[in-house]
Amino acid sequence: MKPSTLRIGYRYRPNRLAESYDAIVIGSGMGGLTTAALLSELGQKVCVLEQHYTAGGYTHSYEREGYEWDVGVHYIGDVGAPTRTRKLFDFLSDGKLEWAPMDEEFDRYYVGDKVFTARAGKQAFRDNLVRQFPDEADAIDRYMELLRSASDGLSAFGMGRMLKPWQRTLATPYLRWKTPEHVFRSTWDVLSELTDNQDLIATLCGQWGDMGLPPKQSAFMAQAMIARHYLYGGYYPVGGSWKIADSIIPKIQATGGEVFTYARVERIRIEDGAVRGVTMQDGHDIDCDTVVSAAGVANTFRGLVDSEISKSTGYEEKLDSVEPSFAHLGVYVGCKDTAENLGLPKTNYWIYPSNDYDADVERFVSEEGAEFPVVYISFPSAKDPDYLNRHPGTATIEIVAPAPYEWFERWQDSTWGKRGDDYDVFKKELGERLMAHLYAKLPQLEGKVDYYEVSTPLSTNWFGGYQRGELYGLSHTAKRFQQDWLSPKTRINGLWLTGQDVVTCGVTGAMMAGLMTTTAMVGMRRMGPVMKKIYG
Ligand SMILES: Cc1cc2nc3c(=O)[nH]c(=O)nc-3n(C[C@H](O)[C@H](O)[C@H](O)COP(=O)(O)OP(=O)(O)OC[C@H]3O[C@@H](n4cnc5c(N)ncnc54)[C@H](O)[C@@H]3O)c2cc1C
Repeated sequence: MKPSTLRIGYRYRPNRLAESYDAIVIGSGMGGLTTAALLSELGQKVCVLEQHYTAGGYTHSYEREGYEWDVGVHYIGDVGAPTRTRKLFDFLSDGKLEWAPMDEEFDRYYVGDKVFTARAGKQAFRDNLVRQFPDEADAIDRYMELLRSASDGLSAFGMGRMLKPWQRTLATPYLRWKTPEHVFRSTWDVLSELTDNQDLIATLCGQWGDMGLPPKQSAFMAQAMIARHYLYGGYYPVGGSWKIADSIIPKIQATGGEVFTYARVERIRIEDGAVRGVTMQDGHDIDCDTVVSAAGVANTFRGLVDSEISKSTGYEEKLDSVEPSFAHLGVYVGCKDTAENLGLPKTNYWIYPSNDYDADVERFVSEEGAEFPVVYISFPSAKDPDYLNRHPGTATIEIVAPAPYEWFERWQDSTWGKRGDDYDVFKKELGERLMAHLYAKLPQLEGKVDYYEVSTPLSTNWFGGYQRGELYGLSHTAKRFQQDWLSPKTRINGLWLTGQDVVTCGVTGAMMAGLMTTTAMVGMRRMGPVMKKIYG
C-alpha cells in the first residue's frame, strides 16, 4: 500500500520553533486555523501545533493508490454569493479559495422505497417541497418562517457566547428576547406541530447526518442551522478540501507564525490559575501565556489540562452535561474511469431504511445486524472541476455511516495498521455491507471499482486526535446549546477555546467559532478594523 503524499504544514522539531510566540493554538482544524489567521492579521506571531502528519483537521485530504479523498468536507453552504460566510473564507484565504456549485438537486433522500430531494435556492427549495407534498404547503411555509426566526436566535446565541460572564448576565434579557424558545426544543417536537406527514418530516430532516442526531434527539437549533446553511445549495472547494488549510496557512506565516505537524501537545501548563505554555509529547516545553485549544473540549479538560485543575475549575463536572457525538465508518472508493463516464452525480445520496429515523437509530444500536439507520454517499471527483488535472482518468466516491464506538473499543489500544486479523475481518464485513448500498443505487459501478478502504472510529481517534471517534465533537442536543461555559473564554487565565464545540459543528461552524474566539480575546475595539476589512 503506497502511503499518502499530500501533506501540508511544517514538520515539528524543537529547533524549528521561534524564540517566542504571542499565542499557541492547539489543533489545525478550521477553528484553530481561523483563530491563528485572525490573530496574525492583528500582528501576532502564532504557533499552531497539530498532532497529525498534515494540517487541516477534518478539512485535510489524503492520497493513496493514485486517488485522493477528503475526510470531513463533502459540501459547504452559503458560499455562492458574498455572504458573511463567503467573505470570511475569502479573507482568510486571500481570495484563493474557489467554490464549485453542486447540482441544483444537491441532496437526494432515499426513504424506504420513496425518493425525495432538496433543491438549491430559498424559493426553489420551498417550491420543490410543495411539489413533493402538495397538501402540505401551509406547513412548509410555516417551516420556512421558523427557519427565518431561528436565524435571528442564532446570531443572538453567538453574540452571547462571546461576552464575558458579567456582560452575559447584563445582556440576558435582550438575548432571551432575541432567541425564540423553539430553538431549544427537539426538532421532532417543533416539526410534529407543523404536520403529521411523516414523509415530510423525514424530508425536512433528511440532512440529520450533517449534525449527527435524529429529530427526537436533536435541538431545533441544530436542525435550523444546517437547513439554513444549505438553503442555497452545496459547494465544493475547487482542488479538494485540503485547499482550505493550504490557502489559510500563508496568512499565519506572514507575521512569523507557523503551522507545525507531528506536534502533539501532551499538556497545557497552568500555574497559579494562569496558562504558562504547553508541554509537547517529546517533553519539550513551549512557553506562552496565551493558549487557544481548538482540539475539542473533552480533549482539553479530560486530557490536556491536569485533572486536579479541571476538577477545581468545575470543568470536569460540566463535561458530564454534554455527550460525544456518534462515531462513524468511512469507505473511500477509487475507480479507474472518470465521474462523467461512470455517471456519478454532483448530488449527495442519503439512504434511510424508513421515515422513522429515531426508531431506525434505536434499532441499529440495540439489535445486532440491524440496518444502518443512514448511509451517506458523496462523489468528490464529480464535484471538483480540478480533480482530473490531479488524477486523470479516475473517480472517487465516499460513503459515511454511523457506528457505535463500543464496537471498536476492544482494539482501541492497538496501533493503526496493526490492529490484528479480527479487526481487519470486521472492517471488511462492514465495508462490504456499505458497498452493497452503493451498488444498489449505482449498479453501473459493478466491476468498475478498482480500490476501496474502510475507516473506523479508531481511525478518527488516530488521525483526528479524538477520544471516542466523535464525528462532530459534542452531540447537538438541546442541553448542549444551553451550556454557557461552552464559550471562548475559560475560567483559566490565558486559556481559550475554539472550534466546533463552541457553537456548532461544520466547517463554517468551526470557522465562525474562530472569529468569535479572536473577538473575545482581543475585544471588539481591536477587532473593528479587521471586521471592516472582512465585511466592508
Ligand atoms: C465524515 C465527516 C463529514 C463531514 N462533512 C462535512 C461537510 O460536508 N460540510 C461541513 O461543513 N462539515 C462537515 N463535517 C464537519 C466538519 O468537518 C467539522 O465540524 C469541522 O471541520 C471541525 O473543525 P474543528 O477545527 O473544530 O476540529 P478538527 O477539524 O477536528 O480539528 C481539531 C484538530 O486538533 C488536533 N488535535 C487534537 N488533539 C491534539 C493535541 N493534543 N495536540 C495537537 N493537535 C491536536 C487534531 O488532530 C485536529 O486536527 C464532516 C465531518 C466528518 C467527520
